[in-house]
Amino acid sequence: MTLTTARLVPAVLLLGCASATAQAVTPAFPADHHQLTKTISYADMEAFLASVDGKGPVHVSVEGTTTQGRSVFLVHASRGGAPAFRILFYAQQHGDEPAGKVALLYMIRDIAAKPELLPADVDLWIMPMMNPDGGEAGTRRNGVKADLNRDHIVLEQPETQALYRVVRRVRPHLAVDCHEFTRDSDERKTRGWTAWPDVTMDGVNNPLFDPAVIVASQRWVDESDAPEAAAGHPFLRYTVGGMPPDEEQRHSAPDIDGGLNAVGMYGGLSFIIESAVMRGASAPSGDLARRVDAYLVLFWRFVNGNGHRQEDLAAVEHARQRPLPAFIPTNYLWVNPGMTVTEFPIVEAATGRVLKVPTANMMTVMAVKSAVPTPLAYAIEPKAAADFKVLLERHGIPFEELTAPRTVRAEACTLLRIEDEFDDVYSRYEGRQIVRREEPAAHELPAGSLWVPLEGEAAVRAALVLEPAAMYGPYQYPRFRKLVIPGAPLPVLRIVH
Ligand SMILES: [Zn+2]
Repeated sequence: MTLTTARLVPAVLLLGCASATAQAVTPAFPADHHQLTKTISYADMEAFLASVDGKGPVHVSVEGTTTQGRSVFLVHASRGGAPAFRILFYAQQHGDEPAGKVALLYMIRDIAAKPELLPADVDLWIMPMMNPDGGEAGTRRNGVKADLNRDHIVLEQPETQALYRVVRRVRPHLAVDCHEFTRDSDERKTRGWTAWPDVTMDGVNNPLFDPAVIVASQRWVDESDAPEAAAGHPFLRYTVGGMPPDEEQRHSAPDIDGGLNAVGMYGGLSFIIESAVMRGASAPSGDLARRVDAYLVLFWRFVNGNGHRQEDLAAVEHARQRPLPAFIPTNYLWVNPGMTVTEFPIVEAATGRVLKVPTANMMTVMAVKSAVPTPLAYAIEPKAAADFKVLLERHGIPFEELTAPRTVRAEACTLLRIEDEFDDVYSRYEGRQIVRREEPAAHELPAGSLWVPLEGEAAVRAALVLEPAAMYGPYQYPRFRKLVIPGAPLPVLRIVH
C-alpha cells in the first residue's frame, strides 16, 4: 500500500479476532479485550501464565532473568507432530509500550482454551514481556537504563541475550517485534494534529537480505490494510521522521543501524509493529482496548498464514541457503528518487478531520550509496579476540581460533573517525564509523587470531556484524569503542585471497 491510496476508514465498532471462550482460566483482566481499561502487570501476567501452563498446547518456561530478578517468560504452543512453520512474537522491549504484550496474552488465553485456533502446522513461540523491569517502572529502558532495542548488535543485556537464545534455538521463519508510538507527540500537537493510523507495520529491508524474503515480508505489510480497515483500524506502512511537508519521513525496519531489532539477520521474515498511543489522554489507558484489538488482527493473520504459508517457507529456505552476494552494502539510506509527492494523512485534533498533507519529503526507496566486494573471510587480531569471541558466540557465528600464524592477503580498514551526532543531512542514527579501506597486502595473522569464514547460514550476520567498511558496526558500543582509535586500523581484516 502507498500513502496516496490509503483509505479513510470510519471509526466503526471494533471487531475481535478470536472469540472469548476461555472458561478454563480466570485471568485478572477482562474476558473481553474491548473492556480493557488498564495494562496487565507483571504479577498478573505471571499468575496468568502459571494458570495456562499445560493447558491445551500451551507450555510456559523462563528463558532469562533481568538485573532486578524478574523472569523473561517464554510461551510455547504446538499441537504436536513436527509443525513446519515456526513463529516468534516478542513484545514490550520498551517497558512503556505494553499493548503488544496484552494482545499476546489474549491470544495465549484463547489458544489454551481452544487449541484448534492454532493451525496444526504452526510452532508458536511467544515472549510477551521482554522488559519486565521497565514495564513495572513505566520506563522505556530496562533496570540498568539500557534501551533493549539499541542492543541487538552486541547483546549486552540479559533480556536481549534471552531473545537471541530463543532465536538461535528456534530459528523462526517469521518473527514479530511489538512497539507503540505516540499519537499526540509534541511535534504534532504544536500543529494541532494527531497521528492518523491506529497501527503501523514494516518488514525487513536491509539491502544485504535475500530479495525473496524482503518481497514476502512486504506482501504481509501490503495486505494488512484491508483486514485492519474491516476491523475499524486505519493502517499504514510504518514511517518515522519529522512532520510533513518540510521534514523527512521514511520507512524504518528491522535492521542493525543503531542496534535495532536484528532478528532478520537470521534469514526469516521479520516485522516491527507499532500501535498508536494517545499519551496525553486523561485516562492513560483509554485507548488500550483499541490498540490491543488492532494488534490481534495482525497476530491472528500471521498465525493463520493467510494463504501464502508455502511461499513464505520457500522464501526463508532460499534465504538460509543463499550464498552472500558479490557485494556487501556499506552505506545505504532511504530516498525519494523522483520527488514523488505523497499525500500524508494526519488528523486535525480539534475536528477529527483527516487532512492529506502533500509532501515531497516522504522517502520510500532504499538506496545503496556504496558497497564493497564480499571478502572470503574476516580475521580478528588477538588483542581484540576476547571481546569479539563473546559477540560471535552470542550470534551463533562459527569461527576458528588460529593455533599457528597464517599468511594471508587482506585489506585493513583505517578508522578516520566515529560520528556520535545524529546526521541531520541524511537523517541517520549516531555511531557511524567512517573508514578508509586500504589496498590489499600480505598480512601475517599471529596465533590467537580469530578466523571467521563467510559461508553457511551465518554468513549474512557475520558480514553485518563484522564488515569493517560498513557505516554501522560494533564500534558504537563502549566494549568495542575501547578497542579502536582514529587513525589506526580496525581490528577486523578483510581476507581477499
Ligand atoms: Zn518501542
